[in-house]
Formats: sequence, C-alpha cells, structure tokens
Amino acid sequence: MHHDRNSLDAYAQRWLKRRNFDRLSRYNPYFVPLDSLREEMASRGQRLVSFANYDYLGLAGHPRVVEAAKAAISRDGTSAGASRLVGGERKAHRAFELAMADFLGVGDSLSMVSGYGTNVSLLGHLPGTGDLVVIDDLSHNSIVAGAGLSRAETLMFPHNDVAALDRLLTERRSQYGRALIVIEGLYSMDGDIPDLPAFLELRDRHNVWLMIDEAHSIGVLGERGRGITEHFGIDPERVDLIVGTLSKSFVSSGGFVAGSKIVIEWLRYSLPGFVYSVGLAPPVTAASHAALEILHEEPERIGRLRQNARRLLAGANSLGLDTGEAVDGGVVPIIFREVEKTIMVSKYLMDMGYYVPPIFQVGVPKNKPRLRFFMSAQHSNEDIDGVLEALARAVEAWSSPRTAQA
Ligand code: PMP
Repeated sequence: MHHDRNSLDAYAQRWLKRRNFDRLSRYNPYFVPLDSLREEMASRGQRLVSFANYDYLGLAGHPRVVEAAKAAISRDGTSAGASRLVGGERKAHRAFELAMADFLGVGDSLSMVSGYGTNVSLLGHLPGTGDLVVIDDLSHNSIVAGAGLSRAETLMFPHNDVAALDRLLTERRSQYGRALIVIEGLYSMDGDIPDLPAFLELRDRHNVWLMIDEAHSIGVLGERGRGITEHFGIDPERVDLIVGTLSKSFVSSGGFVAGSKIVIEWLRYSLPGFVYSVGLAPPVTAASHAALEILHEEPERIGRLRQNARRLLAGANSLGLDTGEAVDGGVVPIIFREVEKTIMVSKYLMDMGYYVPPIFQVGVPKNKPRLRFFMSAQHSNEDIDGVLEALARAVEAWSSPRTAQA
C-alpha cells in the first residue's frame, strides 16, 4: 500500500473509516458468507432461514428454472456474444421479451443485462436539456443515479405525497419542456405502495410522462402478479414506461423496459445501456423465461407470499413493533430508533438461524434503521413463527438495559 496521504489507497481507507466500516468487529452484518454459514449450521443440526434474499415466488432453484438454464447453455452457450444490435440475437431473446410484454399487457419489452443499469441508462437517456425529472425522495439509488446523469433538472417530492407533487408541478411544470415522473410499484425499504390512480390523474392534468419501477411489485401485486396496475385495476397501457428487474420474482439477473411497441422500437436502436452492452446471456434469458411461465401457470404462489407477509406483519405488530406503511407484499421492514439495537437484534436472530439484515448505512433515513425482511412463498408458517419468537426475545433483551449486553 502507498502511504502517501494523497494516494488512492489512503483515500479509500479514509472513506471506510469515516463510515465505520473498519469498526464492525463485534458483528459484521455485511457480506455474510452464506455457504459456509449454512454448512456450519447444518453440522449443528440447525437450518438457516433467510429473509435476506429475493425469491418472492419461491422459484430460486426450481427444477424447471434450473433445467431451462442448463438446456440454454447446451444450445446457445454462456454468452450472447455481442450487442444484439450489431452482433445478432437468439430466438430466445425476442421470445422472452414478447412473453414479458404479453404478461404485463403492454406492446413490447426490451431486456437489459442489469436491473440497476436499466434505470441508470433509461433516465440518463430519456429526458434532456430543458426537461424535468421528478422523483420520489425515497427512490432507489438507480433512479437517483440515472436522473443525476441526465441533462434534465431533477426535483424530488416527499415520499408518496401526491398533493406535494401536484403543487410542485403546478408551480414549475411550465418552465420545462418534457417532464417525467418516476415512482416505484412497491418501495424496497418500506414495503409500501403509491396511490397509482392519483399519480395517473396528475400525469394527465400536468402533461407529463409516468415511469414506474416495478422491481418489487411484479410477481407480488395483483391477482396474477402483473404489478401495481393490476392491483388498482388500471390498464397498464396508461403508464408510459414500466421497468423491472429479473433478479427478484424472475430469480436470475438483468432488467427490462416495457411500453408501447413504438417506444420499445425506439429504445432498441437508441438506449445506450442496450445498444452498447452485450445481450442477455442465454442461461439468464432461459431462467427468467421459465420463471415467467411458472408465475403464469401457478398464480397461487402470489397468494402464499402475501399470506406469509400478513402473518409476519400481524405478529410484529402484536409485539408492538413498527412496520411503517408496509402492505402485505414481499418487503416488510421493522423500524427501530437506534442503529446499535437494530444490529444487535439482527445478530441475535442470526445466532438463532434467521438471517434478517439490519439496514442503516445505505438506502434509509439515518433515524430509521430497520430490519428488512424479504418474504417468499417458500417460507413456512414455522419459519415465520420462529423468527417472530426470536424477535420477541431479542427485543425484550434490548429493551431492558441490564440484560442488553448479555
Ligand atoms: N429498482 C429497484 C426499486 C430496486 O430495488 C433494485 C434492486 N434492489 C433495482 C432497481 C436494481 O435491480 P437489480 O438488483 O436487479 O440490478
């Protein structure tokens, strides 16, 4: 390592120190070594129940998904080989994109190699100089980053506050050319949802476009898992752009944009993150497509997921814990006031075999650290009752100062 104060090494070290990443020796909740932990627990006859990984519909490792990915590798190899625009594409690419569009009830869709990158590229590309992007102040980092990349001005409105957004647009809309509102179908740190009919009314009245990030709502909301539009019984074609990820309900990785045929046709030739990036890898395309088919054939998985969420919410609330505005979806937060308590409760749960990460450094307000549960259709009643029981004991211990250090 260079010892020069101005070296990149020294800069990196200061950054880690300032954020206390070098002082996590008591319990480091980051980069948990999942495989070795599972093995270690198994050797003690214990099972690790994870509430930390996306698998809303319980499809991770589903034999049909695994087989589809293997068959795709045998047939098409492991890489798409180049950007599809200039390097050509496989039948499987378009088949998946059309199936996704059909599932969502819109004209077409375009798949991308990263969910994060989909937002960054789309928002960096779509609004330009003199335009306006308005985002929720609890937007996912990929939305904030994309808006920051665009030449448009970015304004924020308070979380889910339609009246505040209305005032903002009334005051400022006329100063800009095009305007785009970006919301999420279900927020990843709070598990709450926007009042879509009200946002659509604003969209029409103020002459703006509406983009919804459905990373956490597709496969979760609506009877058939079509997301926030199905939840409210709204025609998805009224939304200008729907973006989503392949990493949650679709158990692989990548993202997509969906919209009208003509918009997707335009993006196919112009969206930098698509044009200048490799196509979706064959096994990833196949795994996502298989998951989409299973979702279509077995919508009862959604019911199981939501039942599980209701069981956890009810249990947590009866312990007097704060779950904020979360609905019965795939994300349930338990909000605490102190970071230390959040970390120690998480550690206790881990010792008991339940992986529920504390979220306090990134993505949430400083005064609202939380345990964030990702629910799955795969969790059993026993898993949920077990974590609630452990939670009750942990919270009790950290509420009485004398046992807190025990
Ligand atoms: N949008 C939202 C709302 C997200 O929560 C996430 C990731 N959790 C993404 C986009 C990025 O998706 P991915 O992790 O698949 O890159």
